[in-house]
Amino acid sequence: MDRDVALLVRIIEHTPIGIVILTTEQNIRYVNMLAAHMFNCDRDRLLGEPVGQFINDRPGEIPWRELWPSIIGGNIHEVKVGISRRDSEEVTCAVTAFYLGGKEGQQDAVVLVFRDITHELRTDEQLEKKNIEMAKMNTELIRSNAELKRLSEMKSNFLSIASHELKTPLTSIMGYSDIIVDNMKERLDEGVYRMIESINRAAGRLNKVINNILDVTRIDQKKLRLKPEMFLLSFAVKDCIEELTQLAAQRGIRFNCSFPDNLPEFYGDRSRILQVFTNLFTNAIKYSPDGSAIEVSVVAEDRNRFHITVRDQGIGIDTGDQEHIFDPFYEVGEISKHSTDQMKFKGGGMGLGLSIAKGIIERHGGRIWVESEGVRPGEFLGSTFHILLPVWSEIGWDDLERERATSVSAAMRIVKPADARGAPGGNGSLDEGKPTILLIDTDHEAVEVARMVLENAFTMITAPTAELGLSLAFQRKPSMILLDSFLPGLDGFRICNILRSQDETRTTPIIFLSSMIRREEIEKCFACGADDFIVKPFSGRELMDKIWQILMKKKADTVK
Ligand code: ADP
Repeated sequence: MDRDVALLVRIIEHTPIGIVILTTEQNIRYVNMLAAHMFNCDRDRLLGEPVGQFINDRPGEIPWRELWPSIIGGNIHEVKVGISRRDSEEVTCAVTAFYLGGKEGQQDAVVLVFRDITHELRTDEQLEKKNIEMAKMNTELIRSNAELKRLSEMKSNFLSIASHELKTPLTSIMGYSDIIVDNMKERLDEGVYRMIESINRAAGRLNKVINNILDVTRIDQKKLRLKPEMFLLSFAVKDCIEELTQLAAQRGIRFNCSFPDNLPEFYGDRSRILQVFTNLFTNAIKYSPDGSAIEVSVVAEDRNRFHITVRDQGIGIDTGDQEHIFDPFYEVGEISKHSTDQMKFKGGGMGLGLSIAKGIIERHGGRIWVESEGVRPGEFLGSTFHILLPVWSEIGWDDLERERATSVSAAMRIVKPADARGAPGGNGSLDEGKPTILLIDTDHEAVEVARMVLENAFTMITAPTAELGLSLAFQRKPSMILLDSFLPGLDGFRICNILRSQDETRTTPIIFLSSMIRREEIEKCFACGADDFIVKPFSGRELMDKIWQILMKKKADTVK
C-alpha cells in the first residue's frame, strides 16, 4: 500500500499538468513540479503563500475570488486565468478547481489543475485575426467586383451612347460628301473637290471606328446578332482578298490561296465572316515586309469543322502577347518593329480588330488562336492565325435571324446585278415612270441626304410628323415608305402597325431608319411588319442598294 501511495505521489509529481493543493484559506499546501515551473518559483518559497497573489483574472471570465464559495460548496469550475511568474512573462492557463472534503484526521483541501494554454490561445487569436482580415478582404473584393461590374457596364453604355450620338452628325457628313464625290466632280474647283474627297474618306474611317466600337460593345454585352446563310468560305476568302488587292499591291505582297474542290458550304453570317477575314488579312499585310507572301487555306478538318489558316512572313508576335492580342484595345503597339518604312502602313489601329474577330468566331461556335515563334530583331518569324468553325453551328439561331436571312438571300437570288438598276416593281405603279418614296423623319439632315441621293430615281415626298406621314401614305400610296423609329408622339413602330392594318398600305415595303440598333429595337421593327432596317448614318449607296433590292423582291413576289 505504501508503495502504491509512493507511486501515486511520483505520478502526481511528474505529471505534465500543473497541480496545486490549497487549504480552504487559499494558501498553498502542495505544488507539483510543473506548477512550480509555471509560477517560476522555488517550491519552498511557494508553500504557505496565498495563491491569489499569482492568479490574475482574464477579461470575459468570472473572477477567481467570486468562484471560491461555489468551489468550497462542492462544484467543479473551469476558468481561464493569467499566472504571474516571477521575472518572467505571464502565462495563460485553464484551471479546473474542485473541493476535497477531509476525512477523519485529514484537512479539507481544494485542488487546482493547471493547463498552459498560452500557445493555443495565441494560435487561436492569430487564426481569428486572420479570419477577420480574410472576411474584410472578402467584403472588399465583393465591393470592388460590384464596382468593376458597374464601371464596365458604364463603359459599355458610354461607348454605345457616344457612338450613336456621333453617328447622327456623321450621317450628314458622309451623305453629303458621297453625293458631291459621286456627282459633282466637274462642277467643282479641283482643290475644293479634293478637300471634299478627303472629308469623305475621313468620315468613312470615322464610321469604321464607330462601327468597331459598337461591335465590341455588342460582343461585350452578348448582343452580337448574326444573319446566317449558306455560302462557300473559299468564295468569301477570294472576295475579301479582291477588296484588298490594291492595299497588298502597294506593298508588293501576294496572297497564295489553297482550297480543296469539294469544300462543303458553311452556314453562318457571311458579312461577319468577311469582317473577320478582312481584319486578319489587313493585319497580315500591315505587319509583313514588302514583297512577302501571305498563305491562306481553308480545309475541312474533319466532317464537322472547317480549319482556316492565315500564315504571314511578318514581324511575328511575342509569346507573352499572343494570349492578349485578342483582348479589346490591346495593341503590341511597337511601330518601330514594323517592317516597312512607309509611314502610312504603320500601326494606326485601335486594338479592336482581333477582339471583334474572336467575338464573331466564338458567336459562330468556333475558335481562333495564333501561333508565332515570337519576335527577334532583324528577323521575320511570321505569324499563323488559325480558325476552327463548325460546318453546321450548334448555336441556336433565333427565328428572327433565320427569317431575315431567308428573305434576304431569296431577294439576293432574284436581284441579279444586271437587273439591279432595271425597272423595279412596287404597288402596281412602278413600271410606269418614277416610283414614289415617302420618307417620314424629323431629322432634317437625314431627310436632305436621302432626298439628294434618291431624287433622280424616285419621286420623293417627305413628312416631318407621324400624322402627316400617315395621311400622305394613304393618299399617295407610295411604292416604299422610309420610317424613322424615333418620331415624337406616335413612334415609328406604332405608325408601322397602323400602316400594316390598312388595305392601302398593307403590303407597301417599309424600311426603318434608326441610329439605335439594339436587339430589342430590331425585333420590334420586324414584329410590327417592317421589311428591313438601315442603320444611321447610312451612305447614299447603301440606301439606294437596299431600296432597289427590296423593290426588286417585291416585284418578283408579285409576278409569282
Ligand atoms: P490593330 O487594329 O491595332 O491592328 P488588332 O486587334 O487587329 O488591332 O491587333 C492587335 C495587335 O496584335 C496589333 O497591335 C499587333 O501588334 C498584333 N498583330 C495582329 N496581327 C498581327 C500579325 N499578323 N503580325 C504581327 N502582329 C500582329
